Amino acid sequence: MHFSPILLAGLSHLVVSASGSCLHNTPLMPRQTTPNGVAVAQFGYTGLQGPAHWHKLNPNNTKACLLPQSPDSIAYTTQCATGDFQSPIDVIPAKLTYLQGAAGPQLNYPPIKSATFENLGSTVEVLVTSGSLVYNSTTYSLKQFHFHTPSEHRINGEAFPLEMHLVHASPTNAIAVIGQVFELSAHSSTALLDEVFAHLAAITEPGSVTRTGRFNFNKVMENVAKNGVYTYGGSLTTPPCSEGVTWFVAKEPLPIDVDSYEKMKHVVKFNQRFTQGDLGAPNVLSPQEVV
Ligand SMILES: [Zn+2]
Repeated sequence: MHFSPILLAGLSHLVVSASGSCLHNTPLMPRQTTPNGVAVAQFGYTGLQGPAHWHKLNPNNTKACLLPQSPDSIAYTTQCATGDFQSPIDVIPAKLTYLQGAAGPQLNYPPIKSATFENLGSTVEVLVTSGSLVYNSTTYSLKQFHFHTPSEHRINGEAFPLEMHLVHASPTNAIAVIGQVFELSAHSSTALLDEVFAHLAAITEPGSVTRTGRFNFNKVMENVAKNGVYTYGGSLTTPPCSEGVTWFVAKEPLPIDVDSYEKMKHVVKFNQRFTQGDLGAPNVLSPQEVV
């Protein structure tokens, strides 16, 4: 999938003041600290703060976030209601490109000794300063990973209890995201989640920050290399819903045990943007679709 150079140029010039977006902690949306922790998201998942209203977010929060090619009178979040390549989608295997092994994204994530782990109100996120993804001769650096419950992507119509987004930025600020869904298991779990979620008790309040212990990405790297990914050009699943994002959705879920899942759900609660329309079709919130 190729992306519009105009949109990519737009992404690379975004200066965004709201935190909690999937872009958080990339050069496009630097992390903002407060005297007591980290700034929290200015959007939500319920009622007037929810995804059907993101395009109407308070202009005072979004004024600095206009895409360079947009008229000044249009808030940058309009893509949430007008974009035709929005995420998340229902991943229908027959419609997307499947990549496996050497053809897919090459992940190199070293083990982490300790990392910042924070509650942004809209998700919980781990900040990472090492790790890379190489695809089509472009190297993207891993910046952070965060979680959505229930999953945002569906695979062949099916939703999952949890999805992890590993967010990467290239030197020119192109964005690539690995989406890894998780399935509940009575028999096994993924050590990465158990180790990270063991620290959730310290960040139950939005804006709070703690540190993780050691963890590694081995199961994620193995799963992507062995079982492959579906790729497509989509958007951020949070405001400003910018397009030009390269998505790689892992074909196979990884396991999470019930205890780790419930621990996460009690803190994150609910942060799923609704399934978007077919790629290239009019946005379901656009005037021509809303009658
Ligand atoms: Zn996300």
